[in-house]
Amino acid sequence: MNHLHYLNEYRKESGKNYKIYVTGILTRFTENLREKYFEVFGGLADQIVFKYVYNQGGYMPEIDELLRCDCDDEVRRRCNLPFDAISVTQEGYLSVENADYENMLVVADLNKVSLREGWYGEKMKDMRRRFIEDDLDGTLCDGCVHHTHSPARAITPECSSVEGDYVFDDSCVRERLKNSGLTVYVPMSADIVHPGHINILKTAARYGRVIVGLFADEAISTYKPKPYMTYEQRKIVIESIKYVDEVVPQMTRDYDDNIRRLKPDFMIHGKDWREGPLADVRAKAIATMSEWDGQVIEPDYTKGVSSSMIRGQIR
Ligand code: SF4
Repeated sequence: MNHLHYLNEYRKESGKNYKIYVTGILTRFTENLREKYFEVFGGLADQIVFKYVYNQGGYMPEIDELLRCDCDDEVRRRCNLPFDAISVTQEGYLSVENADYENMLVVADLNKVSLREGWYGEKMKDMRRRFIEDDLDGTLCDGCVHHTHSPARAITPECSSVEGDYVFDDSCVRERLKNSGLTVYVPMSADIVHPGHINILKTAARYGRVIVGLFADEAISTYKPKPYMTYEQRKIVIESIKYVDEVVPQMTRDYDDNIRRLKPDFMIHGKDWREGPLADVRAKAIATMSEWDGQVIEPDYTKGVSSSMIRGQIR
Protein backbone atom coordinates (compact mmCIF):
# COMPACT_ATOMS: atom_id res chain seq x y z
CA MET A 1 0.00 0.00 0.00
CA ASN A 2 2.86 2.36 0.79
CA HIS A 3 4.27 1.75 -2.67
CA LEU A 4 0.95 2.50 -4.28
CA HIS A 5 0.59 5.74 -2.33
CA TYR A 6 4.13 6.68 -3.24
CA LEU A 7 3.58 5.91 -6.96
CA ASN A 8 0.47 8.09 -6.97
CA GLU A 9 2.19 10.97 -5.18
CA TYR A 10 5.23 10.75 -7.42
CA ARG A 11 3.10 10.73 -10.55
CA LYS A 12 1.32 13.86 -9.36
CA GLU A 13 4.49 15.69 -8.39
CA SER A 14 6.61 14.66 -11.37
CA GLY A 15 3.88 15.03 -13.99
CA LYS A 16 5.00 11.72 -15.48
CA ASN A 17 2.28 9.90 -17.32
CA TYR A 18 2.67 6.28 -16.26
CA LYS A 19 -0.15 3.90 -15.48
CA ILE A 20 -0.67 2.01 -12.25
CA TYR A 21 -2.28 -1.41 -12.37
CA VAL A 22 -3.14 -3.83 -9.59
CA THR A 23 -3.46 -7.51 -10.46
CA GLY A 24 -5.55 -9.92 -8.44
CA ILE A 25 -4.87 -13.62 -8.84
CA LEU A 26 -8.12 -15.51 -8.47
CA THR A 27 -8.17 -18.92 -6.88
CA ARG A 28 -11.13 -20.76 -5.47
CA PHE A 29 -10.19 -19.24 -2.11
CA THR A 30 -10.07 -15.67 -3.37
CA GLU A 31 -12.58 -15.40 -6.19
CA ASN A 32 -15.26 -14.10 -3.81
CA LEU A 33 -13.00 -11.24 -2.82
CA ARG A 34 -13.17 -9.29 -6.11
CA GLU A 35 -15.18 -6.49 -4.53
CA LYS A 36 -12.62 -6.18 -1.76
CA TYR A 37 -9.97 -5.32 -4.32
CA PHE A 38 -12.04 -2.32 -5.41
CA GLU A 39 -12.62 -1.29 -1.80
CA VAL A 40 -8.94 -1.53 -0.94
CA PHE A 41 -7.26 -0.35 -4.14
CA GLY A 42 -9.96 1.85 -5.66
CA GLY A 43 -8.56 5.34 -6.27
CA LEU A 44 -4.98 4.08 -6.04
CA ALA A 45 -4.84 2.22 -9.36
CA ASP A 46 -5.88 3.13 -12.89
CA GLN A 47 -7.18 -0.35 -13.40
CA ILE A 48 -7.62 -3.53 -11.39
CA VAL A 49 -6.99 -6.61 -13.47
CA PHE A 50 -8.00 -10.14 -12.47
CA LYS A 51 -6.31 -13.28 -13.67
CA TYR A 52 -7.15 -16.87 -12.88
CA VAL A 53 -4.43 -18.84 -11.23
CA TYR A 54 -2.66 -21.19 -13.59
CA ASN A 55 0.16 -23.64 -13.45
CA GLN A 56 2.99 -21.41 -14.51
CA GLY A 57 5.86 -23.34 -15.97
CA GLY A 58 4.35 -26.66 -14.91
CA TYR A 59 6.11 -26.26 -11.59
CA MET A 60 3.00 -26.63 -9.43
CA PRO A 61 1.18 -29.81 -10.40
CA GLU A 62 -0.83 -29.53 -7.20
CA ILE A 63 -2.27 -26.17 -8.20
CA ASP A 64 -5.10 -27.78 -10.04
CA GLU A 65 -6.62 -29.31 -6.95
CA LEU A 66 -5.45 -26.81 -4.40
CA LEU A 67 -6.26 -23.50 -6.01
CA ARG A 68 -8.58 -23.96 -8.95
CA CYS A 69 -11.53 -21.62 -9.33
CA ASP A 70 -15.11 -22.77 -9.23
CA CYS A 71 -15.61 -21.06 -12.57
CA ASP A 72 -12.64 -22.98 -13.83
CA ASP A 73 -12.37 -23.75 -17.48
CA GLU A 74 -9.41 -24.75 -19.53
CA VAL A 75 -9.63 -21.92 -22.05
CA ARG A 76 -9.89 -19.13 -19.52
CA ARG A 77 -6.93 -20.52 -17.69
CA ARG A 78 -4.82 -20.97 -20.78
CA CYS A 79 -1.62 -19.07 -20.46
CA ASN A 80 -1.36 -15.43 -21.47
CA LEU A 81 2.43 -15.24 -21.41
CA PRO A 82 3.17 -15.86 -25.12
CA PHE A 83 0.86 -12.98 -25.97
CA ASP A 84 1.51 -10.26 -23.44
CA ALA A 85 4.74 -10.83 -21.55
CA ILE A 86 8.30 -10.25 -22.63
CA SER A 87 10.66 -12.54 -20.73
CA VAL A 88 14.38 -12.23 -21.23
CA THR A 89 16.71 -14.71 -19.52
CA GLN A 90 19.99 -13.75 -17.90
CA GLU A 91 21.79 -15.04 -21.02
CA GLY A 92 19.86 -12.57 -23.15
CA TYR A 93 17.45 -15.09 -24.67
CA LEU A 94 13.84 -14.27 -25.37
CA SER A 95 11.71 -16.96 -23.74
CA VAL A 96 7.99 -17.59 -23.88
CA GLU A 97 7.89 -17.37 -20.13
CA ASN A 98 9.68 -16.12 -17.05
CA ALA A 99 10.04 -19.31 -15.01
CA ASP A 100 11.75 -21.24 -17.78
CA TYR A 101 14.75 -22.26 -15.70
CA GLU A 102 16.03 -24.75 -18.26
CA ASN A 103 15.47 -22.42 -21.23
CA MET A 104 13.06 -24.92 -22.78
CA LEU A 105 10.94 -22.14 -24.25
CA VAL A 106 13.56 -19.86 -25.75
CA VAL A 107 12.42 -18.46 -29.09
CA ALA A 108 15.26 -16.09 -29.95
CA ASP A 109 18.79 -15.15 -28.97
CA LEU A 110 18.66 -11.41 -28.39
CA ASN A 111 22.45 -11.24 -28.60
CA LYS A 112 21.96 -11.91 -32.29
CA VAL A 113 18.57 -10.45 -33.20
CA SER A 114 16.57 -7.45 -31.98
CA LEU A 115 13.70 -7.76 -29.52
CA ARG A 116 11.30 -6.82 -32.30
CA GLU A 117 12.70 -9.57 -34.54
CA GLY A 118 12.42 -12.10 -31.71
CA TRP A 119 8.93 -11.06 -30.60
CA TYR A 120 7.58 -11.22 -34.15
CA GLY A 121 9.88 -14.07 -35.20
CA GLU A 122 8.70 -17.38 -36.63
CA LYS A 123 9.28 -19.37 -33.41
CA MET A 124 7.30 -16.97 -31.25
CA LYS A 125 4.53 -16.79 -33.81
CA ASP A 126 4.47 -20.56 -34.02
CA MET A 127 4.13 -20.86 -30.23
CA ARG A 128 1.21 -18.41 -30.26
CA ARG A 129 -0.43 -20.41 -33.01
CA ARG A 130 0.08 -23.60 -31.03
CA PHE A 131 -1.57 -22.04 -27.98
CA ILE A 132 -4.53 -20.82 -30.03
CA GLU A 133 -4.98 -24.16 -31.76
CA ASP A 134 -4.21 -26.12 -28.60
CA ASP A 135 -1.43 -27.95 -30.36
CA LEU A 136 1.15 -28.01 -27.56
CA ASP A 137 2.31 -31.59 -27.84
CA GLY A 138 6.01 -31.95 -27.15
CA THR A 139 6.42 -28.54 -25.51
CA LEU A 140 6.91 -27.75 -21.84
CA CYS A 141 3.63 -25.82 -22.03
CA ASP A 142 1.70 -29.02 -22.75
CA GLY A 143 2.44 -30.25 -19.23
CA CYS A 144 1.53 -26.87 -17.83
CA VAL A 145 -1.75 -26.38 -19.68
CA HIS A 146 -2.94 -29.98 -19.74
CA HIS A 147 -1.19 -31.23 -16.61
CA THR A 148 0.38 -34.13 -18.43
CA HIS A 149 3.81 -35.58 -17.90
CA SER A 150 4.68 -36.07 -21.55
CA PRO A 151 8.14 -35.65 -23.02
CA ALA A 152 8.97 -32.08 -23.98
CA ARG A 153 11.75 -30.78 -26.20
CA ALA A 154 13.44 -27.43 -26.08
CA ILE A 155 12.24 -25.06 -28.80
CA THR A 156 15.78 -23.86 -29.39
CA PRO A 157 18.00 -26.75 -28.22
CA GLU A 158 21.27 -24.80 -28.51
CA CYS A 159 20.01 -22.35 -25.87
CA SER A 160 18.66 -24.94 -23.44
CA SER A 161 20.41 -26.72 -20.60
CA VAL A 162 18.31 -29.81 -21.30
CA GLU A 163 19.21 -32.33 -23.94
CA GLY A 164 16.68 -34.54 -25.70
CA ASP A 165 13.28 -35.36 -24.25
CA TYR A 166 12.60 -33.87 -20.91
CA VAL A 167 9.77 -34.98 -18.69
CA PHE A 168 8.83 -32.68 -15.89
CA ASP A 169 9.21 -34.57 -12.65
CA ASP A 170 7.08 -33.44 -9.74
CA SER A 171 9.02 -35.39 -7.11
CA CYS A 172 10.53 -32.15 -5.79
CA VAL A 173 7.04 -30.75 -5.35
CA ARG A 174 5.88 -33.88 -3.54
CA GLU A 175 8.87 -33.60 -1.25
CA ARG A 176 8.05 -29.95 -0.54
CA LEU A 177 4.45 -30.81 0.27
CA LYS A 178 5.52 -33.65 2.49
CA ASN A 179 7.66 -31.25 4.48
CA SER A 180 4.99 -28.57 4.56
CA GLY A 181 3.35 -30.09 7.63
CA LEU A 182 0.07 -30.60 5.74
CA THR A 183 -1.47 -34.02 6.24
CA VAL A 184 -3.94 -35.96 4.15
CA TYR A 185 -6.14 -38.76 5.44
CA VAL A 186 -7.15 -41.46 2.96
CA PRO A 187 -9.39 -44.26 4.20
CA MET A 188 -9.37 -47.50 2.21
CA SER A 189 -9.76 -51.23 2.61
CA ALA A 190 -7.30 -52.06 -0.19
CA ASP A 191 -7.98 -55.77 -0.34
CA ILE A 192 -7.60 -55.91 -4.12
CA VAL A 193 -5.37 -53.00 -5.04
CA HIS A 194 -6.16 -51.59 -8.50
CA PRO A 195 -5.44 -48.38 -10.48
CA GLY A 196 -8.33 -46.59 -8.73
CA HIS A 197 -6.47 -46.85 -5.41
CA ILE A 198 -3.26 -45.60 -7.00
CA ASN A 199 -5.07 -42.61 -8.53
CA ILE A 200 -6.53 -41.67 -5.17
CA LEU A 201 -3.15 -41.98 -3.44
CA LYS A 202 -1.41 -40.06 -6.20
CA THR A 203 -3.94 -37.26 -5.82
CA ALA A 204 -3.50 -37.35 -2.05
CA ALA A 205 0.28 -36.98 -2.37
CA ARG A 206 -0.31 -33.62 -4.07
CA TYR A 207 -1.76 -32.26 -0.85
CA GLY A 208 0.79 -33.27 1.75
CA ARG A 209 1.90 -36.19 3.88
CA VAL A 210 -0.36 -39.15 3.16
CA ILE A 211 -1.79 -41.16 6.05
CA VAL A 212 -3.84 -44.15 4.94
CA GLY A 213 -6.57 -45.28 7.33
CA LEU A 214 -6.59 -48.97 6.51
CA PHE A 215 -9.85 -50.65 7.44
CA ALA A 216 -9.47 -53.39 10.04
CA ASP A 217 -10.92 -56.77 9.00
CA GLU A 218 -13.81 -56.36 11.47
CA ALA A 219 -14.68 -52.93 10.07
CA ILE A 220 -14.80 -54.28 6.51
CA SER A 221 -17.03 -57.16 7.57
CA THR A 222 -19.71 -54.66 8.69
CA TYR A 223 -20.44 -53.57 5.12
CA LYS A 224 -18.85 -55.97 2.64
CA PRO A 225 -17.45 -59.54 2.38
CA LYS A 226 -14.49 -60.51 4.52
CA PRO A 227 -11.23 -59.43 2.78
CA TYR A 228 -9.04 -61.95 0.96
CA MET A 229 -5.92 -60.65 2.67
CA THR A 230 -5.40 -60.06 6.37
CA TYR A 231 -4.89 -56.56 7.75
CA GLU A 232 -1.14 -57.17 8.04
CA GLN A 233 -0.87 -58.35 4.43
CA ARG A 234 -2.84 -55.38 3.14
CA LYS A 235 -0.71 -53.06 5.27
CA ILE A 236 2.48 -54.41 3.69
CA VAL A 237 1.09 -53.72 0.21
CA ILE A 238 -0.11 -50.19 0.97
CA GLU A 239 3.05 -49.22 2.85
CA SER A 240 5.07 -50.11 -0.23
CA ILE A 241 3.30 -47.58 -2.45
CA LYS A 242 5.47 -44.54 -2.99
CA TYR A 243 2.66 -42.05 -2.37
CA VAL A 244 2.00 -43.37 1.15
CA ASP A 245 3.81 -42.06 4.22
CA GLU A 246 2.00 -43.83 7.04
CA VAL A 247 -0.66 -46.48 7.57
CA VAL A 248 -2.93 -46.45 10.62
CA PRO A 249 -5.79 -48.82 11.45
CA GLN A 250 -9.31 -47.62 10.67
CA MET A 251 -11.29 -49.57 13.23
CA THR A 252 -14.83 -48.51 12.34
CA ARG A 253 -16.81 -47.71 9.23
CA ASP A 254 -17.22 -44.21 10.59
CA TYR A 255 -14.07 -42.07 10.26
CA ASP A 256 -14.71 -39.77 13.19
CA ASP A 257 -12.26 -41.30 15.70
CA ASN A 258 -9.31 -41.23 13.35
CA ILE A 259 -9.91 -37.81 11.85
CA ARG A 260 -10.48 -36.25 15.29
CA ARG A 261 -7.25 -37.78 16.53
CA LEU A 262 -5.14 -36.97 13.45
CA LYS A 263 -6.79 -33.64 12.54
CA PRO A 264 -5.68 -33.88 8.91
CA ASP A 265 -5.75 -30.80 6.69
CA PHE A 266 -7.36 -32.84 3.93
CA MET A 267 -9.31 -36.00 3.62
CA ILE A 268 -9.58 -37.73 0.25
CA HIS A 269 -12.39 -40.03 -0.73
CA GLY A 270 -13.67 -41.03 -4.18
CA LYS A 271 -16.91 -39.32 -5.28
CA ASP A 272 -18.79 -42.61 -5.08
CA TRP A 273 -19.73 -42.06 -1.42
CA ARG A 274 -21.92 -39.05 -2.22
CA GLU A 275 -24.91 -41.31 -2.60
CA GLY A 276 -25.82 -44.68 -1.17
CA PRO A 277 -24.89 -46.31 2.13
CA LEU A 278 -21.89 -44.07 2.82
CA ALA A 279 -23.73 -40.76 2.38
CA ASP A 280 -24.27 -40.35 6.15
CA VAL A 281 -20.61 -41.20 6.88
CA ARG A 282 -19.63 -38.55 4.32
CA ALA A 283 -21.86 -35.88 5.88
CA LYS A 284 -20.40 -36.58 9.31
CA ALA A 285 -16.81 -36.53 8.02
CA ILE A 286 -17.35 -33.18 6.26
CA ALA A 287 -18.89 -31.69 9.42
CA THR A 288 -16.05 -32.95 11.61
CA MET A 289 -13.30 -31.81 9.22
CA SER A 290 -14.85 -28.35 9.06
CA GLU A 291 -14.24 -27.92 12.80
CA TRP A 292 -10.56 -27.19 12.02
CA ASP A 293 -11.10 -25.93 8.45
CA GLY A 294 -10.06 -29.28 7.03
CA GLN A 295 -11.22 -29.97 3.50
CA VAL A 296 -12.73 -33.10 2.05
CA ILE A 297 -11.57 -33.65 -1.52
CA GLU A 298 -13.50 -36.02 -3.74
CA PRO A 299 -11.64 -36.98 -6.89
CA ASP A 300 -13.47 -38.63 -9.77
CA TYR A 301 -13.89 -42.36 -9.44
CA THR A 302 -11.59 -44.27 -11.81
CA LYS A 303 -13.85 -45.65 -14.52
CA GLY A 304 -13.90 -49.30 -15.54
CA VAL A 305 -12.32 -50.78 -12.43
CA SER A 306 -13.40 -51.45 -8.85
CA SER A 307 -12.75 -54.01 -6.15
CA SER A 308 -16.29 -55.42 -6.40
CA MET A 309 -15.93 -55.77 -10.19
CA ILE A 310 -12.67 -57.71 -9.78
CA ARG A 311 -14.13 -59.74 -6.91
CA GLY A 312 -17.05 -60.70 -9.17
CA GLN A 313 -14.68 -61.80 -11.94
CA ILE A 314 -12.63 -63.93 -9.53
CA ARG A 315 -15.74 -65.82 -8.38
S1 SF4 B 1 5.09 -23.21 -19.39
FE1 SF4 B 1 3.93 -22.40 -21.12
S2 SF4 B 1 1.82 -22.53 -20.48
FE2 SF4 B 1 3.05 -22.69 -18.65
S3 SF4 B 1 3.23 -20.60 -17.86
FE3 SF4 B 1 4.97 -20.98 -19.18
S4 SF4 B 1 4.37 -20.23 -21.17
FE4 SF4 B 1 2.54 -20.48 -19.97
